[in-house]
Amino acid sequence: MDAALLLVVIVIIIPVIGLIVLYVPSVDSRMEENWMALPERGQYLMIYPDALSDSHPICHQCFSSRTLNVGYRHAKDKRRMVICQACKRQLWRESAL
Ligand SMILES: [Zn+2]
Repeated sequence: MDAALLLVVIVIIIPVIGLIVLYVPSVDSRMEENWMALPERGQYLMIYPDALSDSHPICHQCFSSRTLNVGYRHAKDKRRMVICQACKRQLWRESAL
């Protein structure tokens, strides 16, 4: 192996891989904490008792009844959250079975 190539591997590539290995799990755990910080549906209605219209929870911020159940990180994520379609606020979390 060429000495310059070996130097590039030692000085640049190995530290970059190390940073990726260290950083990715911490991002994932922070996102998990953020998801867990959202209330469950029942808790949401206890926190915002006025956010109810015709027995359906609505957005407590803009009172829109249009909500959307989305995956937390991607479309098929079992960690689900309901957001307001109007103001995009995260309302409560759910888990897909
Ligand atoms: Zn809203």
